[in-house]
Amino acid sequence: AKERGGNTYEFYAEEIGAHAEKRLLLENELRRALNRDEFVLHYQPQVDSATGRPCGFEALIRWQHPERGLVPPGDFIPILEETGMIVEVGDWVLQTALRQLADWHRRGWDGLTMAVNLSSRQFERSGLPETLERALNEHGLDPGVLELEITEGTLMQDVASTTFTLQQLSRSGFGIALDDFGTGYSSLSYLSKFPFTTLKIDRAFVRDIPGDPDHTAITRAIVAMGQGLRLRLVAEGVETEEQRAFLNGLGCSLMQGYLYSRPLSAAAATAWLADSV
Ligand code: C2E
Ligand code: CA
Ligand code: CA
Ligand code: CA
Repeated sequence: AKERGGNTYEFYAEEIGAHAEKRLLLENELRRALNRDEFVLHYQPQVDSATGRPCGFEALIRWQHPERGLVPPGDFIPILEETGMIVEVGDWVLQTALRQLADWHRRGWDGLTMAVNLSSRQFERSGLPETLERALNEHGLDPGVLELEITEGTLMQDVASTTFTLQQLSRSGFGIALDDFGTGYSSLSYLSKFPFTTLKIDRAFVRDIPGDPDHTAITRAIVAMGQGLRLRLVAEGVETEEQRAFLNGLGCSLMQGYLYSRPLSAAAATAWLADSV
């Protein structure tokens, strides 16, 4: 038994070693990716389904890997967060997304907003509001056109400092969206405690409506609550006409999902805009 335990341990240690090595490799690759400009943003339209008009986009990062092709954010964002590289990459995301938005505004689509995902590491850093204002000034944009998406997890990292920063951002006029609403562990009181302008209904609920009675009831309740709190509501992951009709019937007309479009490259998003307005 002793011998076997030893073998098991060795095997385990080897596993960890291999894992750590793979991680280190990926970390180095990500650092190179940043220097070589291998990150790209795709943009997914947000549409007002009542009028059929696009109202904005959400910027979503991808890694254009020289051999592996387009790598989805779920495969590398966690590592960027752990290493702290997300702060630098996050700055790049903000700059790139705002430059794209300014370009669309110049071409006449000047009502569009841009939603950008922020991780808690970016939030913890002091000076986020100043960084954001500088970036907006550089592109001649108003704070109201930028919507900062944060998750319940980010809020719970450090409630006191997050509250402070969010209030500062809110006073400056930035839009603040609570992303993936209903999937985390935050309390409902957060909704009135933090200065949100938008509530994003998670795809986990939208996916099962109107067939699943429980998720339908939850979606109904979220919409009613959002309306009561005078929040902008955006339904995520709308894929079917049935979902669209149901949400629209509830009074939630802003939507994002494959029914309208998948996330698109900058060029494809511009072509999509030209087609739809
Ligand atoms: P998220 O913020 O919840 O973004 C929505 C995700 O749902 C995106 O996945 C989008 O492609 C996908 N999606 C949109 N509509 C549909 C639909 O109709 N059906 C289905 N099945 N999926 C849909 P993506 O692009 O893989 O992004 C995954 C997550 O990575 C994001 O979730 C966000 O948490 C994170 N992420 C993406 N870009 C950034 C970034 O620049 N910074 C940070 N910190 N996180 C990011
Ligand atoms: Ca998001
Ligand atoms: Ca989301
Ligand atoms: Ca999500």
